[in-house]
Amino acid sequence: TSGASTGADRVDSHCPYCALQCGMSLTPAAGPAAPEVRPRAFPTNRGGLCQKGWTSAAVLGAPDRLTRPLVRRSLLDPAPPVPGAPVPGAPAADADPLVPVPWDTALDLVATRLAALSAEHGPQAVAVFGGGGLTNEKAYALGKFARTVLRTPNIDYNGRFCMASAAAGMNRAFGVDRGLPFPLADLGGAQAVLLLGSNLAETMPPAVQHLAGARAAGGLVVVDPRRSATARLAVDPAPDPAAGPSQGVHLAPVPGTDLAVVLGLLHVVLAEGLADEAYLAARTTGFEDVARSVAAWWPERVESVAGVPAEELRRVARLLAAAAPAHGGAGAYVLTGRGVEQSTQGTATVTAAINLALALGLPGRVGSGYGAITGQGNGQGGREHGQKADQLPGYRRIDDPAARAHVAAVWGVDPDSLPGPGLPAVRLLRSLATPGGPRALLVHGSNVVVSAPDASRVVERLRALDLLVVCDVVPSETARLAHVVLPVTQWAEEEGTLTSLEGRVIRRRAAVSPPGEVRSELWVLAELARRLGAPATLAFPTDPAEVFDELARASAGGPADYAGLSHARLDADEAAGGPGLHWPVPDGDHPGTPRLFLDGFPTPDGRARLVAVDHVGPSDEVRPGAPFYLVTGRVLQHYQSGAQTHRVPDLERLVPEPYVELHPVLGFRLGLPDGARVRLTSARGEVEATARWTDAVRPDTVFMPFHWSGAGSVNRVTTDATDPVSGMPEFKVCAVDVTPVPDG
Ligand code: SF4
Repeated sequence: TSGASTGADRVDSHCPYCALQCGMSLTPAAGPAAPEVRPRAFPTNRGGLCQKGWTSAAVLGAPDRLTRPLVRRSLLDPAPPVPGAPVPGAPAADADPLVPVPWDTALDLVATRLAALSAEHGPQAVAVFGGGGLTNEKAYALGKFARTVLRTPNIDYNGRFCMASAAAGMNRAFGVDRGLPFPLADLGGAQAVLLLGSNLAETMPPAVQHLAGARAAGGLVVVDPRRSATARLAVDPAPDPAAGPSQGVHLAPVPGTDLAVVLGLLHVVLAEGLADEAYLAARTTGFEDVARSVAAWWPERVESVAGVPAEELRRVARLLAAAAPAHGGAGAYVLTGRGVEQSTQGTATVTAAINLALALGLPGRVGSGYGAITGQGNGQGGREHGQKADQLPGYRRIDDPAARAHVAAVWGVDPDSLPGPGLPAVRLLRSLATPGGPRALLVHGSNVVVSAPDASRVVERLRALDLLVVCDVVPSETARLAHVVLPVTQWAEEEGTLTSLEGRVIRRRAAVSPPGEVRSELWVLAELARRLGAPATLAFPTDPAEVFDELARASAGGPADYAGLSHARLDADEAAGGPGLHWPVPDGDHPGTPRLFLDGFPTPDGRARLVAVDHVGPSDEVRPGAPFYLVTGRVLQHYQSGAQTHRVPDLERLVPEPYVELHPVLGFRLGLPDGARVRLTSARGEVEATARWTDAVRPDTVFMPFHWSGAGSVNRVTTDATDPVSGMPEFKVCAVDVTPVPDG
């Protein structure tokens, strides 16, 4: 089902998966075969690709690729028989199957039902759920469509599951959120890198090369309850025996106590007089409050809460301080990832990490800093252009009158007609089909049935909707519940832009034409807007370059300012050997901004804000009946809900089924040998998988990756408790019981 070549000999583009956006070249094949993938030099990957990238073209030709619009048979009038092939993945005895229909039939039906639900229950009865993998152009068009055509406040996206806490923490401290406010390659010169809850070696393998300098200097520190592949990099001997053993550190705190560890590190920095006093005085506010708040987190107390040896904590604080510019070091970075952010204390932990970095005088200095490692493919751009419940394009707040006026002028609408902030993702999903809640949901680029917490409840809410419309490339678990499924283009079939984890705006290009009747989401939104009576002045262009030009105008003057960019400029830059431009790029002559904060922070007084936070612990503590911690995470071979990577035979062979890692001591105690079937039970539900013994996990903790659905979906067990500031769910820790699955 892969589409035909576009005729180009070789297309330079980027991997469709994570935010490293590794450079690759696609050589289209003759006929329907998938294009050949080759790595390409780009600053983040420097010619490397992981297994997912190498095999990414297989998804283009997935055997069950959606190629025609599908509608539930019962919604068609007159009733079918409808000719056409059976729908891939549909149960054989589905009483109300999805059947293929012409585009006009599907779009007319969607528009008629949306209009009726909006008229009867108000515009907030229609909700939109976007994705962090959508191109900048699609994310922008989706936000505009929701707020001007549907006029609903209820739009949010799956980035709420991965970047919301980092975004909230950075916005509060720095006045802007760009995951890495410096190029990733800057890490290469650092003497020390503190990785809080990030497993780069497994999630973004080519990124590990940027840690080589810190590793060689004995300055790589990994905080993770598991001895992950990245933690092993810190403490295992280097492959070259001449380089000697790494002097790095792995701290393995009790799940849910990372915040106490970071507070303890800052306590030591202050207690031992290691802070950069001059920097704090000149460039920050709030230090006194923070100093008082960490006074109670002396290392022995942290040890009693988090199980991290007090002396190791002191060693790490001294190692970081020695690497800081104030002490003549070569540079230090503090980086956070999902391991500490996907928590009810996520924003507080990011804030504590930023406090630590500020106390050491790191942000806004070349060769040092704080950053958050964005995960999803367009996780950075996806949160800048208006598909987030509280944001307008240009990364502006939706409750800012000046931002509303600017964006409304670009859109040609009355600012007062724009809705205010909507519900963040988890609350939005919980509210579906409840009294006063949305009765229709449009899903774009997200598979919430697998990726959202408390998955059984999500399925229940989706089933209760009057209308579920899913735009997708394959029959994902969410698409299979839909009333209407619309087949849309994917990465190598469309033109667009992405923004990397370091704020670098790049072009992704079409190498093959889409198969069957597949259409771009930009076209789908334009067709729905027309059917819903949008005036001709409210434009929904279908040419991505045209959409980008409008996005650039809408972003002008905002924190994420793309005003000086266009597809043509990005193409010309790349043709001249440039690897994209970092925002802000306020005009056509501006060279981009690889490093933020060098001259000050974009806050009202130009200073970064330290904010006092405290550790209270996770929402779901271990207790009798649920005596073990569950930590969830990823494996190298699969991406997110697995909707794409489970369709790549080479990856599926390597990790064919879900598994639970448990310590041999725990396995022995519970009568669960390596390879046994194990059941995890929480207050929300249960999941079953195969036991894998490993001493990389703590004896009080089990680990399970989240890439599977059905009985192997760990998100049936996770809690939907959320961070009070960011709305981010607490995927990283909950309390479970661990039992054998009875035979038969
Ligand atoms: Fe690179 Fe990420 Fe793609 Fe792997 S999945 S090739 S690390 S962009």
